This record gives sequence, structure tokens and C-alpha cells, in this order.
Amino acid sequence: MINEVFFNEKKDKIYSALKHAMENVSYYRENWSFELPSIEKFDYSFFQKYVPILEKDEVRTHNDQFISSRYDKKELTFDVTSGTTGNPLICYKSKKERLKRANELWKQRKHFVPYLSVNDKFARFYAFRMNEEHLIINKVLYRDNELHIPLFDYSENRIEEYLSELSQFQPRWIHGPSTAIFNLAKHAKSKKINDLKIEFIELNGEFVTDAQLSLIKEVFRCKVANHYGSREFWAMAFSCEEGHLHVLEQSLFIESIYNESLQDYELIVTSLSNASWPLIRYRIGDIGTIERSSCKSHPSSYVLHLKKGRKADYFTLAGNKYINAITFSGIIRGISNIKGCSVVYQYQVVKTAENELIIKLCMNQECIKSIQLFIDRLEAEIRKIIGNEIVLHFKIVDSIQPDPKTGKCRDFIDETRKG
Ligand SMILES: [Zn+2]
Repeated sequence: MINEVFFNEKKDKIYSALKHAMENVSYYRENWSFELPSIEKFDYSFFQKYVPILEKDEVRTHNDQFISSRYDKKELTFDVTSGTTGNPLICYKSKKERLKRANELWKQRKHFVPYLSVNDKFARFYAFRMNEEHLIINKVLYRDNELHIPLFDYSENRIEEYLSELSQFQPRWIHGPSTAIFNLAKHAKSKKINDLKIEFIELNGEFVTDAQLSLIKEVFRCKVANHYGSREFWAMAFSCEEGHLHVLEQSLFIESIYNESLQDYELIVTSLSNASWPLIRYRIGDIGTIERSSCKSHPSSYVLHLKKGRKADYFTLAGNKYINAITFSGIIRGISNIKGCSVVYQYQVVKTAENELIIKLCMNQECIKSIQLFIDRLEAEIRKIIGNEIVLHFKIVDSIQPDPKTGKCRDFIDETRKG
């Protein structure tokens, strides 16, 4: 079994990670009910039997207990997970770890373009930006050698604008979500826009389909890499030129475990390098299997086959609009955090007609003086993207019911979509 082969190869590092966690991380010390055997007796069946799988919610609710006592929380850097709830997960890393992982990622990029550098001009995408008090949501921004393209509105006129900004800026490379770049590629192809000289595109943050990949390659005529990562672990796998998604096994051990309720294999990730905030056997929420590959062009021999994964949800609205559902999470997160309290802790948007949306909000009402003022602000921000013609209904609810089919709460539902 592949998990065992991979485990045996990483056994020493996994052992050290567990030992460190037991000695220095209070969550594991208090919740694990096993003792670590000698390294000779430490094998995959022990690991599988005794080390429990860690849920995201468990980390969210006890996050401080996951920080190693050998580190000072104030010294750590952090990322915040994107998510549909107002309670994102804060993911910690030491400065040393951050640098190490960034170097590892740059090594992957340089497999594709040997002289690519942090100083090169590049384009990226953003979901929301705060500027003092103001939310910046629908503008193309310039930051030194970077061009930032918003992820919200992919209606034809906006795509036209993004492509023309790209032509003027002429970045050496682009990184961003596959659906957004695919939308740009589709439009560039149909309008025969052909003046971009990009050397490299790195797709990240979303599941990539073969159709997306081949169109992006065809239109932009450059090398395209797939970077599979998360806020929790940063880069987890990176493709080689042959298209295999190689696990970054210097830093991570990944298992593929059958999940009865999903009726499929899911990925369970153990960090081998983040000593400050170690996640061990963490359920990342993606479906996929692992295989050993004989690929000669890449040092890592473990290759991921992702089956499903995070993907942006685009929907149409009256007025030829084509909107990314990330709009709502971006805006809600942008304006919802008031003095450390999340005003909206969960939400769901339902499209009931081409010109009508219902926005359900679960609110921590004690965080704000006036709910009406908050909703007015929310409406004004959403209208900057969708315009004034769409009817919006705001409903404050106690809870959002999960989808009976999947058991998951969806943040966007299109009732007009067939099937
Ligand atoms: Zn390969």
C-alpha cells in the first residue's frame, strides 16, 4: 500500500514530528492517548491505529493549543483561511519556516523557468483588499512589480479591461486560480487577442480540469504549472513539465485514506517542517489518491491525482453579468470584522432569478450598534459589483441548513440552474 511505502521513507521525520508535538504542543499532549514506541517499533500500522485524524473545526476552536510552547505566538507570522464562515482559521508559521517554504516553492518554479526571479513583473488575482477603512473590490491595482486583478466580475467588458491591463503591463508570469485564468483565455481566444508575451503561468487555489489546462496553454503559449496548496500548509504539490502533481515531500507526508461517507479516497496531511504550529493527520478536505511515479525530471516520486476540489462558482445575472461567488465571501469578510468580532459568522446566497438574490446572514448581533447600518453597507458594497438593477433580499437567520445530499453548508446556490 502506497501510504505505508511513503510512511517508511519519511519515518524518521514523522517520528520527530510526533515527538515534538507530544513534548511541546499542549493540544496533542492532552488529547493523544498513546505513548510513542521506540523508533524500531514505530510503523505505519501504529501511526494509522493511534494517531487520530484532525478536523479543521478542532483546530479552529483550540487554535492557541496548537502553537508549540517553544515559540512565542507574537513572533509567528500567519495566514487566514478563506472560507464561507466569518470564523476563518488562523494558520501560523515561524519566519524561518516561511522562508524555507518560499524557497522550496521558488525551486519548483525554476524547474519551469530557470531565471524567474521575485523581482520580475507578475500578475496575480485578489479577492478583497482593505485600505484603511475602505474595501477595494473591483479595481485593477498596481503594486511595484505586481499587477493585481480582481476576482469578482468576469463579465465580458471587465475581462476585456483585465486583458488590456495585462497587455500594457506585460508581466513575465502570472499566478492565480484556474477558473479566472481560463475565463481570460476563453475571451482572448474568441476575440483573437494575441499580444501577451507571458513565459509562465502558475495555477493555484483551485482544482484544475484538463480542458482548462489545455486551453490556457493554447492561448497564452507558455509553460503552465499546477500548484496545489492551502493556507494551512502552503504548497503541498507542484507539477512537473510532464504534468504530474508531485508532493513536496521534504515538508509534508500525505496519506490517501478511504472515507466511507464520501465513498472515496481523501487526503490527510502531516506537516514535517512546521514546528511552531504542527498539524498532524489533518483532514484537508480534498479527494484524491497518491501514486509512485517513475518520472525522471522531478526528485519527488509521490504524485497526487486530485479528483475533486475547491473550485470557484460563477453565475450569471441580468445585464450580461458573469460573477464569481467569491464576491460575497470577499465583501462579507472585508466588512464583517469589527474590533475582533465577526459580525457575520455564516452566510448563504441564493440566486432565485436572473435579477434576484436572497442573502441569508447569521449574525453576532452584539458586535454592532445597528444591524440596518451594517446591511446598508453590505448592500452598497455588493452593488458595486452587481449594479443597481438586481433585487436583493437580506434575511437574518439563526442557522444555515446543510445540503441534505452532501451534509455540507453551501455558500452559494443557483436555483435557476437546471439539474
Ligand atoms: Zn513528473
